[in-house]
Amino acid sequence: MSNLFLRTLREDPADAEVPSHKLLVRAGYVRRVAPGIFTWLPLGYQVLRNVERIVREEMDRSGAQEVHFPALLPREAYEATGRWEEYGDNLFRLKDRKESDYLLGPTHEEMFTLLVKGEYSSYKDLPVSLYQIQTKYRDEARPRAGILRGREFVMKDSYSFDIDQAGLEASYLAHRDAYIAIFDRLGLDYVIVSATSGAMGGSASEEFLATGENGEDTFVRCANCDYAANIEAVTVSVPVVDEGEALPEPAIHPTPDTTTIESLVEFSNSDSATKRESDPWTAADTLKNVALIVTNPDGTEEPLVIGVPGNRDVDERRLEAVLAPAEMRTMTDDDLTKYPALVAGYIGPQILGEESITKIKYLVDPRVVDGTVWISGANHENHHTYGRVAGRDFTPDGTIDVADVREGDPCPDCGGALTLARGIEIGHIFQLGTKYAEALDLQVLDQNGKQTVVTMGSYGVGVSRAVAAIAEQSHDDIGLIWPPEVAPAQVHLVATGKDDAVFEAAQALADEFDIAGLTVLYDDRPKVSPGVKFKDAELLGMPVIVVVGRKLEEGLVEVRDRRTDERKEVAPSEALAAVQSFLD
Ligand code: ATP
Ligand code: MG
Repeated sequence: MSNLFLRTLREDPADAEVPSHKLLVRAGYVRRVAPGIFTWLPLGYQVLRNVERIVREEMDRSGAQEVHFPALLPREAYEATGRWEEYGDNLFRLKDRKESDYLLGPTHEEMFTLLVKGEYSSYKDLPVSLYQIQTKYRDEARPRAGILRGREFVMKDSYSFDIDQAGLEASYLAHRDAYIAIFDRLGLDYVIVSATSGAMGGSASEEFLATGENGEDTFVRCANCDYAANIEAVTVSVPVVDEGEALPEPAIHPTPDTTTIESLVEFSNSDSATKRESDPWTAADTLKNVALIVTNPDGTEEPLVIGVPGNRDVDERRLEAVLAPAEMRTMTDDDLTKYPALVAGYIGPQILGEESITKIKYLVDPRVVDGTVWISGANHENHHTYGRVAGRDFTPDGTIDVADVREGDPCPDCGGALTLARGIEIGHIFQLGTKYAEALDLQVLDQNGKQTVVTMGSYGVGVSRAVAAIAEQSHDDIGLIWPPEVAPAQVHLVATGKDDAVFEAAQALADEFDIAGLTVLYDDRPKVSPGVKFKDAELLGMPVIVVVGRKLEEGLVEVRDRRTDERKEVAPSEALAAVQSFLD
């Protein structure tokens, strides 16, 4: 450490919110260059390379082959798949000196598709899985939490190529197994959650989420069965409607000043014309219609109204996930003037949908099934309709599963209670199918000599994000605590005091550990106080700390497990065995 390029900080950086960011900066692992852009210093870079090594070993073991693409890519392929536009502001676009368009790759589906197209032409060449560990660029709207969400970051991305769906499923499972091996070795606590809605096929896409309060993703888990899904992908159980029940006739009532669900319920339960003695109205009896403007990637705008039971809100994250790459905003007063049929606070469903006069697109929560009865706006200020029946009085254009999901909601698989928790997306596996192969015309000859479109999978690991995710899960008040496989060194050896004998004994231990195959960070700094050295050792987070100091006179050194804080005082000759027992 006397010549290691390292400065530790005693104070948290002002711009850091989450522990991993604070600690990685304080421990001198990374330094910020610009928002979401970081430099890796020697110790940090060692951790990053250790993570890369584990990812590489497991990808190789799975049979995937490593290649390496440039990050600077021409526009054409991304134009062909529509992503040059779809990516919107997230894409770093640039021009060369000839004014040709380039981009910095945010992900490489197009390039891998073209690569395989250039080399392969027969089913006999398949399957093949290719991967790279590469720097990606995304101009994230909210770069945050240090390297958890960077604008430049390291990703392992791989792509599988198969002749048919059965092949794709096998490639997908091989990746899934490799990811389990990777994240187990990284020492992460994680869950595998489904990432696409049931409608698209349950296992077509899954995410690996490192569990933790500071995660940006919310997921649900069933307390009763093994259902787990990103909140963006949770599907609502559709209620069964009792067909025999007599349906009420719709009746319009004056409901002054009831633009909110709360005021509407309160009014409905107090006014003699609307009140229901036996069974008071609740928010769940009302239909809330949310008016939005959707902006398509090509810039065109269209209105969309979403109907949800009044006791639910539209969850913005879930809505964004469904609409992407289109974006949306709630209708402003300005927008509303363009659609005079929409009376703010009193929108009713009978004027919505393709079959209505307005033709305004109308999608409803899956709970709004035909035969359900609602209190809804009368499209007239200060009026609501009671007894509006879905399927009879209005016809939505379809369903949209974007209402908020709550703790205790029924599991779509078994009806058990769902629990909510947060996590960091560290990996994503996805059965792409033929989308990219079709757009870029990747075909091979099949067994019968017929041209067939290749089917693909795409798989990502957030390599740099994993470093931060590990730090998020593995630290305490005084510093980082690295799992042995990713630590910059396995042993942090501290020599304290001024006594030559101490430094000689410590150097001898360093050599012995080294020969035994351990990596050692040796604090041989001459004029640094023991207190500072201990604080640094705790902050830097090697899994085992060995102290050679005053006790050497009594023939003892201290060996300490950074994870459990267990300490042993042993003779120098027994230090190696003590270190190894802690590492095991
Ligand atoms: P997110 O939802 O967090 O923005 P994503 O779904 O857009 O991620 P993918 O396109 O699936 O990301 O990329 C594969 C992996 O790359 C992710 O699972 C994640 O671990 C990592 N990753 C994505 N964006 C970033 C980023 N801005 N910084 C660091 N890692 C990232
Ligand atoms: Mg993802």
